[in-house]
Amino acid sequence: MTGTVGFIGLGTMGCDMARNLLKAGYRVRGHDLRADAARAMAAEGVVPAASVAEAAAGADIVVTMLPDTPHVQAVVLGEGGLLSSPPAGRLVVDMSTIAPTAVREMHARLKAAGIGFVDAPVSGGPQGARAGTLSIMAGGDAEDFARARPVLAAMGTTINHVGESGAGQTVKLCNQLICGINLQAVCEAIALGRAAGVDLAQMREVLLGGSAASWMLDRLGPAMIESQTAAGFRIDLMLKDLRLVRELADALSVPLPGTALVTTQYVEARAHGEGGNGNQALFKVYDRMTNQAAA
Ligand code: NAD
Repeated sequence: MTGTVGFIGLGTMGCDMARNLLKAGYRVRGHDLRADAARAMAAEGVVPAASVAEAAAGADIVVTMLPDTPHVQAVVLGEGGLLSSPPAGRLVVDMSTIAPTAVREMHARLKAAGIGFVDAPVSGGPQGARAGTLSIMAGGDAEDFARARPVLAAMGTTINHVGESGAGQTVKLCNQLICGINLQAVCEAIALGRAAGVDLAQMREVLLGGSAASWMLDRLGPAMIESQTAAGFRIDLMLKDLRLVRELADALSVPLPGTALVTTQYVEARAHGEGGNGNQALFKVYDRMTNQAAA
């Protein structure tokens, strides 16, 4: 594969996604607000760019992987952003998790300027980013998705065009709703199993072989059993996603009582200083409720 990708946002996910683009043969021009982030990847082949415009210069596609809606709006619509300094290939692919309404607005403004915009959020966590096995759900115009697809294929293995602009984010928010509530279920099972004195590592193995198996139990279960809170997907990002879920549900008058309940527990975790920890730190809420604070 040949071509140049401008990559903006070299954080937890973006670093490894950019690495997989290099592995697939793309030239990568990387930019991050933290200037050292792109410089740190120079030895691996990333060309550090000092600005959004510099990352876009000469690129076929620009990929953004940023925390939240305002960050993507600043990079796309802000001064010196992609609307005024588009890549030569006039295609922008945002892979962050942000609000579908904001996606549609940016899509309309970019389209009016002859620039394609695809929302292509991901699922699979840092492990999926590292392995290049992300699940990617894309919204936008079919011809833009077709152009983006080879680039997406360097970062993920399950790649679907799920509808018009914003549809990728809608599917991603449904994904996050399931992840948030499923993690709560795993926390409760571990709290109950621990109180009853069963071997939690063995319990996890057994459950993974049956109908309670889940990504959360599989990938985050060991960290929860061992009380490890190191971040992959931070509590703060989960709360951001649950806010986006709530905004979408409110706009459509869809009640989500399970989401509402688990959101209060993530808020409680953040209030105890766990916002920067991985989302498996939700188990700390259960530690407190069961007086296992030292665990
Ligand atoms: P992160 O905070 O680790 O990385 C974001 C990067 O963007 C940071 O390096 C930050 O400096 C940079 N940045 C912020 N504003 C910028 C700007 N205006 N210009 C240039 N760079 C800027 O976040 P992450 O964990 O990599 O997540 C990125 C997105 O992917 C989020 O929307 C998140 O919800 C989503 N996501 C994360 C995971 C995960 O497991 N971490 C999984 C799936 C999806």
